[in-house]
Amino acid sequence: MLDYDVNANIREVMRLMPPAVKLVAVSKYHPSEYLQAAYDEGQRIFGESQVQELQRKVGEMPGDIQWHFIGHLQTNKVKYIAPYISMIEAVDSLKLMAEIQKQAAKHSRVIDILLELHIAEEATKYGLTLDACRKLLEDGQWREMKNVRICGLMTMASFTDDESQIRREFTTASDFFDEVKAKYFPDADHFRERSWGMSDDYPIAIECRSTMVRIGTKIFGPRVY
Ligand SMILES: *Cc1c(COP(=O)(O)O)cnc(C)c1O
Repeated sequence: MLDYDVNANIREVMRLMPPAVKLVAVSKYHPSEYLQAAYDEGQRIFGESQVQELQRKVGEMPGDIQWHFIGHLQTNKVKYIAPYISMIEAVDSLKLMAEIQKQAAKHSRVIDILLELHIAEEATKYGLTLDACRKLLEDGQWREMKNVRICGLMTMASFTDDESQIRREFTTASDFFDEVKAKYFPDADHFRERSWGMSDDYPIAIECRSTMVRIGTKIFGPRVY
């Protein structure tokens, strides 16, 4: 028995998930037994944020899992995950994108990525401001990166109880998605993902057109760091 009823939790989350929204089960800091319980309920997309931990779990878990890297990824660590990673969700610099291109090419793969936006009020170092994101796309170097596929945008809302603020931030991301889609990806079907929503705010995120929610605590319980 697990300390936490992962099976029941994920069934409940899945039951309420609109069919068009992908569920990323955020399993960071949880043991593989927990992931296996979610897997047994049919979950196939898992999100991790530490390279070493991810490497270990890839070895322990079934081969048909799609692993998403959701944390801040250091450039020098891309090479470890390049052979198998399904999506890198938090890309926030051209430098990181160029390294993903290099490593993906080495493995003759195309790696899907999302551009991470910094919209929340929190003073984090990570994520592109809307202007920085516009600049990166306008610059156009990404067009030469044939082994990197930009599939959409990712963001986190502020850590607050103020629902209207959360809604405002997700709406900003959603409007920005439309702008970027129209300007740079009008004919690219793969540019379609809006990754926002975590355990505490995913119902709001879905109302704000999220296509991909990243849920950890609600499925696996509190993390022990
Ligand atoms: C940890 C994490 C999550 C999951 O957070 P919960 O509140 O546990 O659902 C989602 N997204 C990112 C980027 C994370 O680092």
